[in-house]
Amino acid sequence: MAIRCPEGCRDLLPDEAAYWERFASIARDVFSKYEYVSIYTPMIEQTELFVRGIGEATDVVSKEMFAAISGKNMEKLLEGEKIRSKSRLSLRPEGTAGVVRAIVQHDLVPDGAPPVKLMYAGPMFRAERPQHGRQRQFNQIGVECLGSADPTVDAEAIIMLMAFYERIGIESSMMRLLINSMGCGKCRPAYRELVHDYLSQNVDSLCDACKVRMEANPLRAFDCKEDGCKQVMSDAPKITDHLCEECSQHYAKVKGLLSSQGIEFVEDPALVRGLDYYTRTVFEVQATQGIGAQDAIGGGGRYDDLSKEIGGRSMPGFGFALGYDRCMLYLREKGMEFEPAKRCDVFVASVNDEVRDSAFELVQMCRYSDLRAEMDHQSRSLKSQFKLADKLDARVVVILGPDELARGEVKVRDMESHEESLVDKNEAVAAILDVLR
Ligand code: AMP
Repeated sequence: MAIRCPEGCRDLLPDEAAYWERFASIARDVFSKYEYVSIYTPMIEQTELFVRGIGEATDVVSKEMFAAISGKNMEKLLEGEKIRSKSRLSLRPEGTAGVVRAIVQHDLVPDGAPPVKLMYAGPMFRAERPQHGRQRQFNQIGVECLGSADPTVDAEAIIMLMAFYERIGIESSMMRLLINSMGCGKCRPAYRELVHDYLSQNVDSLCDACKVRMEANPLRAFDCKEDGCKQVMSDAPKITDHLCEECSQHYAKVKGLLSSQGIEFVEDPALVRGLDYYTRTVFEVQATQGIGAQDAIGGGGRYDDLSKEIGGRSMPGFGFALGYDRCMLYLREKGMEFEPAKRCDVFVASVNDEVRDSAFELVQMCRYSDLRAEMDHQSRSLKSQFKLADKLDARVVVILGPDELARGEVKVRDMESHEESLVDKNEAVAAILDVLR
């Protein structure tokens, strides 16, 4: 059988590829109003970055990372030899850790400098069980702002994300914004203990995974989808009742700023999100009109300790990521169709094989003049070349015939008005441009 796309991955065929590019360019446009600029970081990073940054006890790191390994190192491992920790690489499961690593490595926020605001767009990889809306390779667009703990950073990023959704056609009535505060290094440890104690009192009702989580990372139990655990967690102590004064004020300020701009949100004290690095604000945007269980179309939060965690100096940060594939799923379920990418300005048709070299020359001249141009590459009949020109949506067809060429002329046909004219072959590009104008 022919080889197929790997499980949990999908091809973005040309019409969708054009849409993805437009999607990313809308994001760039919206985010640039807030002074976010692009960064590209590698798709592979040292595994240690994710272990230290995202947290060893998270599902993303403990179960879902793809190792990236050279053939040579694979041989070493199979022979039971050790490989250097620098050579232990993983495909990035998310974008934040790599961007923060780059900011630290290149000192993009020197002491006293204004915050840096970066955006990225590209594929992430998680070895999850594929299902509707959940892939192993998926595209995310995200932003990171490093260097300020001010609640204005949190609020403006959330407002900006909601503006992006509206621009791509997901209206506010089609989504729900959930927010919470996760506290900080000062107030969270005591809260974590409280949740741990609460879980141990209810251990008999927990699933096996939560019994393990209870010790390693008790707050993860809020994410469990098992009915018994959900029941237990609905009465668990709420983080928002245990925030320190600073976190409480920070949270109140973020909510106030969102409300001041008319952004509706729902406070959800059980929202902990899947990665360990969050402090204070966390948020998630969910599709409300049903795309199944995988309804989160974006989310993020503050991570004031992440930079230090990966070996940099202490630097507060805030970011989010939105899932392209799930937004697409949502929009398509709502009836959106991909517009076929507009393809061709001019098609150069050859009456017979004799004139194909001239066709090649003319099609190149068109391209050098910035036109989208195509010719026949299969010695097709004139009739089927016209069909192809139609399919490519060519506005102009130039017909090269041996008799006309012998007189130094070519025929230029406007495919909209169906008007044809004979022009000097050296004037062909100018005549095409005239029609296009
Ligand atoms: P996260 O990095 O887990 O906060 O995810 C941010 C967004 O990326 C989610 O809201 C989803 O829209 C999307 N996403 C995360 N994991 C997947 C996946 N396995 N397949 C498709 N989209 C995903």
